[in-house]
Amino acid sequence: MAKSKEEVIEEMQKVVEQMRLDDIEDNPDSANEYFQCDACGQEAPLAGSIQYGQYRLCNDCVLLAEVGFELKQFSDIQELIDKMDDKRLEADCEFLKQEQQRGIQGLLDKESLN
Ligand SMILES: [Zn+2]
Repeated sequence: MAKSKEEVIEEMQKVVEQMRLDDIEDNPDSANEYFQCDACGQEAPLAGSIQYGQYRLCNDCVLLAEVGFELKQFSDIQELIDKMDDKRLEADCEFLKQEQQRGIQGLLDKESLN
């Protein structure tokens, strides 16, 4: 019987988490070294990330990729990258929103000083 989607996800979560732990064991600094994920666009620790061809994916996206490959949702990492386009935009927007909030917070702080 084929594994259900939930089973695949559960299994892959363990595998991917183990990769992250192995990375930290091999190189403890990798937990504190950040890079920008090519799929979701978020800053993520190097630990648990994987290089797929020209792309480096964060631990969360590695999970997405491996589950996707396992469930044959896609066969090429490029397809995931394309699918994640919106998410990357969201991440960029999130960053902008945070910047804006910081700006507003800065104004509020100044006002509370008066
Ligand atoms: Zn990612």
